[in-house]
Amino acid sequence: MKWKCSACGYIHDGDSAPDFCPRCGAPKEKFEKIAADIEQIMDRSKKTNQLHMDLTHMMTKVLEIAEAGTEDNLDPGCLNVFQKAKKAAWEIRQMSKAEITVHINKQKWG
Ligand SMILES: [Zn+2]
Repeated sequence: MKWKCSACGYIHDGDSAPDFCPRCGAPKEKFEKIAADIEQIMDRSKKTNQLHMDLTHMMTKVLEIAEAGTEDNLDPGCLNVFQKAKKAAWEIRQMSKAEITVHINKQKWG
């Protein structure tokens, strides 16, 4: 079962709501049980959300490599590769972040 703090949105997993919200300190009464269908959507999306987080992290690494390669600037061929990598990694990271935002707004997160 999942419980949502109505004060701050914190999601708690467990048979009952916590005595106090770990995030904002709101009392147990402030927690609302999340409906079963929403809970299912959250559970279904968990893996995808994690994959987006992994991808975002990896693209940040690619950006660091592309920056280092651009700075190194050995020859035009290398510069071309690093600049393309930078553009692609930036776009993928931004798209992944947008998907995560959509999931949060559609309650596919928790
Ligand atoms: Zn809270």
